[in-house]
Amino acid sequence: MDDCLFCKIIKGEIPSTKVYEDELCYAFNDIAPTAPVHFLVIPKEHITSAAEITPENSAVVAHIFEVIAKLSGDMGMTEGFRVVSNCGDCAGQTVKHLHFHVLSGREFTWPAG
Ligand code: 5GP
Ligand code: ZN
Repeated sequence: MDDCLFCKIIKGEIPSTKVYEDELCYAFNDIAPTAPVHFLVIPKEHITSAAEITPENSAVVAHIFEVIAKLSGDMGMTEGFRVVSNCGDCAGQTVKHLHFHVLSGREFTWPAG
């Protein structure tokens, strides 16, 4: 997707602080963190949102959760962490490329705002 911000980050056209990368996904620090640890994990394939996950592309989602589990250990997120994927305007999705926020380092309230 030529006009997608996160596709441009994957291609290196927009700089980012990399946390992790493999052939399927890319993880980088959020530019406006809302917790001491706040990074985003995105599939390298452009998928617009969680509403666009299908049997054909869902394997990358399982892979991303495996990566998050590994990073949580590597990064010492032993007290817990939250994974969030905003989908659609009402949920506050501002970038239309599927992404998973990984947040840690403080306590989080529930229900979500
Ligand atoms: P959403 O609001 O769609 O759930 O999350 C999008 C996230 O992307 C936001 O937390 C926002 O701070 C982050 N973001 C937006 N533009 C950039 C950018 O250019 N670089 C980085 N690293 N994060 C960005
Ligand atoms: Zn994209």
